[in-house]
Amino acid sequence: MNVADSNEMGRHLKAKGLVETQDPEDASIYLVNTCTVRQHAEDRAFSEIGRLGRWKAKRPGRKVVVSGCAAERTKEYLEDRFPFIDLVVGAKSIENFNEIAGRLLDRRATDEDLDYAVPAVNEKVAAFVTSMRGCNYSCTYCIVPYVRGREIYHSIDQILAEVRDRVSEGAREITLLGQTVNSYRHGQHRFGDLLRAVAGIDGVERIRFISPHPYYMTDRVIETMATVPQVCESLHLPVQSGSNTMLKSMMRNYTREHYIALAGKMRQAVPDMTLSTDIIVGFPGETEEDFRQTLSLVEELQFDWGFVFKYSAREGTPAAELECLPQELIEERHQRCLELVDRIALKKRLDLVGTIQDVLIEELGVGRTRTNYKVHVRREAQARQGAASINEAQARAERKPARSASPIGRSLKRRAQPQEKAAASSNIIHGDQVRVRITNAQRATLEGEVYNGNLAFENFREEDCRAGTCPDRQ
Ligand code: SAM
Ligand code: SF4
Repeated sequence: MNVADSNEMGRHLKAKGLVETQDPEDASIYLVNTCTVRQHAEDRAFSEIGRLGRWKAKRPGRKVVVSGCAAERTKEYLEDRFPFIDLVVGAKSIENFNEIAGRLLDRRATDEDLDYAVPAVNEKVAAFVTSMRGCNYSCTYCIVPYVRGREIYHSIDQILAEVRDRVSEGAREITLLGQTVNSYRHGQHRFGDLLRAVAGIDGVERIRFISPHPYYMTDRVIETMATVPQVCESLHLPVQSGSNTMLKSMMRNYTREHYIALAGKMRQAVPDMTLSTDIIVGFPGETEEDFRQTLSLVEELQFDWGFVFKYSAREGTPAAELECLPQELIEERHQRCLELVDRIALKKRLDLVGTIQDVLIEELGVGRTRTNYKVHVRREAQARQGAASINEAQARAERKPARSASPIGRSLKRRAQPQEKAAASSNIIHGDQVRVRITNAQRATLEGEVYNGNLAFENFREEDCRAGTCPDRQ
C-alpha cells in the first residue's frame, strides 16, 4: 500500500514538472513515506528522517516531506523533534496530496531549486492500483483503522481509468490494492465485478490483488479467480494465528476451521494456486498450546511462503492494554515459526525444479511466474534466446489464453516498443513473457533458463543415454 501511495505522490509531483531521482544528492525534495504497523517500521522511518537535517542544510531550497501512517499518528511529535520538516501529510490526506504539495511548491524561492534531478527510468511492468482505502475492521492489534480511517472505495470508472494509464505506460500486470481489498463495493459492483472489469482492459495480461480478508473470499470471488484467465493463480491470505482463542481475541471474524475449509475450496477451484499468509506470534495471552496450533496449521496447509511477524504493541489499540509476553519468548516463537514456514517454502520451491513456467520479465533477467515466484533467468540463455523472445511474446499475444473461457474481453495484444526491438537482439528485457525451465531453487527465489521447447544438446545426449541409444554406451 505504501509503495502504491509513494507512486501516486510521485505522479502528482511529476505532473508539476519534477523528475524522480534515486540519488539524494540530486534531489531538491526528499519524501519519506512512513509505516506504523509495527514499531520497527516507525523507528526506521524516524532514523531516516533524522539524517535529513544535514541533507537539507547542504543546499538552499531543499524540502523535506513526511507522509503516511506514522505521519498521521505522530504529526506533532515529528514537527517538534524534526523542525526542519517542511510538510507532514498523514495517510488520511494522501488523496489530497496533489493540492497540498501544490501549496508547498508554490512557496519555493526559485525554479532553480528544482533543477538538479536526473530522470529515473519508470516503465513499470507490474503496477499497483489502489481500489479502496482504509479499513472497517477492528483487529485488536492493528493501528491501520486509526491512521487510515474507514473504508472508501474508488469507483470502477476511476480504477479502470488508472489501469488504462498504467497500461499505456507499459504495465502488463496490475495488482489491486486495499487493506481488505476483496470487501470492495461500489453501487451494485462487488470485488468479483471489479476483477472482471479490469480483465476486460486491453493490455492487462495478469491481475493480482492484496490483501484479501478471509471473510470476503466469497464463492463469486473464487469463481472469478478460477475462470478469468488474467487473474493469477496466487493468493496471499493472512491467517494471523492457528488458534481459535487467539483469533477471537484478535477479533479476526473467522475460525481456524473456516480458514482451512476456505483454503481447500480455493485449491480445488484453482489447482495450481500458491497460497501464502501472514502470521503474528506472541500476541498477548498466547500459550504454548495456542502457538502449537499455529505451527500445526502451517503444517496442515503447507503454505507456499509466509511472513511471520513478532507481535508489536501499538498505542491506542485494544491489545496494547493487555499484558505483553516476555520479549525472549516472542523471539523464540518467531524463530520456530519462521523455520517451519521457510522449510516448507524451500521444499515447495525445490518441487518446481524441472518445471516450465511462464515468466513475465520485470527487470533485466528477473521476472515472476503467474504463481508469484521471483525467477532469475540465466543470462547465457537470455543471450541465445533474446531475439526470439519478442517474437514469441507477440505470437503468444495473438493467441487466446490457455485457461477456461470467460465472458470477458481479453485481448492480450501488445506491440513491442522500439527500444525492446533494439535490445531484443542481445537480451530479454522487461515486459517480455518467456517460458522458463526452472533449474534451481533458493530460499526466496528460483533460477531458470529460457525454454524454447527443444532440449539443449547436452540434455539431448543425456536423454539419449537414458533411452539406451547413446553412441557412448554402444
Ligand atoms: N488487512 C490485512 C489483513 O487483515 O489481513 C493486513 C494488513 S496489515 C497492514 C499487514 C500485516 O501486518 C498483517 O497481516 C499482520 O500480520 C501484521 N500486523 C499488523 N499489526 C501488527 C502488529 N501490531 N504486530 C505485528 N504484526 C502486525
Ligand atoms: Fe488491520 Fe487488516 Fe484487521 Fe483492517 S483487517 S484492522 S488492516 S489487520
